[in-house]
Amino acid sequence: MDIQLKTFAELNLLPPLERALKEQNYKIPTPIQAKTIPPALEGKDILGCAQTGTGKTAAFALPILDFLGGDMRKARSGRPQALVLAPTRELAIQIGDSMRVYGKHLKLRTALVFGGVNQNKQVREMQRGAHILVATPGRLLDLMQQGHIQLDELEVFVLDEADRMLDMGFLPDIKRVISKLPSDRQSLFFSATMPPKIVELASQLLSSPFRVDVTPKKTSVKKIKQKIVYCERSEKVGLLHKLLRGEDVGRVIVFTRTKRGANTLAKKTEKAGVPVAVIHGNKSQAARQKALKAFRAKKVRVLVATDVAARGIDIDNVTHVVNYDLPNEPESYVHRIGRTGRAGAEGIAVSFCSGEELDYLDDIEKLIGIKIERDPNSVKPAWKPKPKQGGGQRRGGGSTSRRKGNQKGKRSKSSLGNSRSSKRGPKRGKRNTKENRRSVVA
Ligand code: AMP
Repeated sequence: MDIQLKTFAELNLLPPLERALKEQNYKIPTPIQAKTIPPALEGKDILGCAQTGTGKTAAFALPILDFLGGDMRKARSGRPQALVLAPTRELAIQIGDSMRVYGKHLKLRTALVFGGVNQNKQVREMQRGAHILVATPGRLLDLMQQGHIQLDELEVFVLDEADRMLDMGFLPDIKRVISKLPSDRQSLFFSATMPPKIVELASQLLSSPFRVDVTPKKTSVKKIKQKIVYCERSEKVGLLHKLLRGEDVGRVIVFTRTKRGANTLAKKTEKAGVPVAVIHGNKSQAARQKALKAFRAKKVRVLVATDVAARGIDIDNVTHVVNYDLPNEPESYVHRIGRTGRAGAEGIAVSFCSGEELDYLDDIEKLIGIKIERDPNSVKPAWKPKPKQGGGQRRGGGSTSRRKGNQKGKRSKSSLGNSRSSKRGPKRGKRNTKENRRSVVA
């Protein structure tokens, strides 16, 4: 089915949602929204292949808000009606913000649950009751085990950035969460890539899903001007500082492979007179939020980050992404450079490539299917073996409480709770009539 929507009005969303979208100046649904929202409103399961930056959040947030806003049940203590599972705290916070923005004129409560901070506030929020819960897997399981959260009244489940979740080792946690979901639910599943493991997980979770695919990787990365600068490792600092002095260079995100590398580079860059913010998995939640806030507010124009920031962070007007180190996972390259060129703006991605990283470059070009332009002033270095893994990248994000959980080693293998006789489709069909909605909301 190929659905082409011209305006949000055609979606027939609740008036309070339409109002919020107008205030956000959203006029035309993005392709993922145009394709996802109508079947999701009907209560169908969705299998969406899309990256952040495509408008994916609204694609699942609007149907959830429309459904819950039309229903307007009182939020029950510790029993959310909708759960969005996200891989990192940053993404969870961003999704929570979006829920609140789009749901501004509805009386729905959204709660956030993620690790790395004291749980008390989160527990209080859950006790008070929230219609929508946005969570990372580790802390969610902790609070479920402590009896603060029950998922038995859940009606909609969203798994966001599923491939990222698997990369970060969350599969056992996800399966454990899924095993606690009621079988009568709607599930929306989003992933930037669809490797076999993801397809398998999706088939266990979803029932006759509506498939939406909006980001052929090759075209999305083609929009960003990309360049490879060959160099020796020791030359990278000087090259970066020169680049930062460039006239056309505004806000820059610089990616390093390890947390230690990020700290060292930040120190050297500050010493060179350029203030920077740093974000990586060893920083406390407060420090990460502070760094992002300073970057967002343009107090600093350079953010040094490990891959924890490569996904989900939505900051406009990032003119350059610099891959100070090339990532060892080629998918990370696509996510990193996607931090620039957002919302149709032009973006530039510059990648430094030393002899140790030539193999990574090969993998990246194989994945994106294009040969990236080389800086004509740089000379290809001699091949060297890949750098040793410092463990700074793969497990960088949002994993504090997950690790804690794994150390306990108590989580049993559980089957996926996917069998269901009916979904909320029919229930929803009834609720979803125009008359019904208007009477509830007006
Ligand atoms: P996301 O992929 O959900 O992270 O969204 C990327 C950015 O696009 C966010 O800044 C959204 O506010 C923005 N956005 C999402 N949908 C629309 C739309 N239909 N029109 C304009 N901007 C949008």
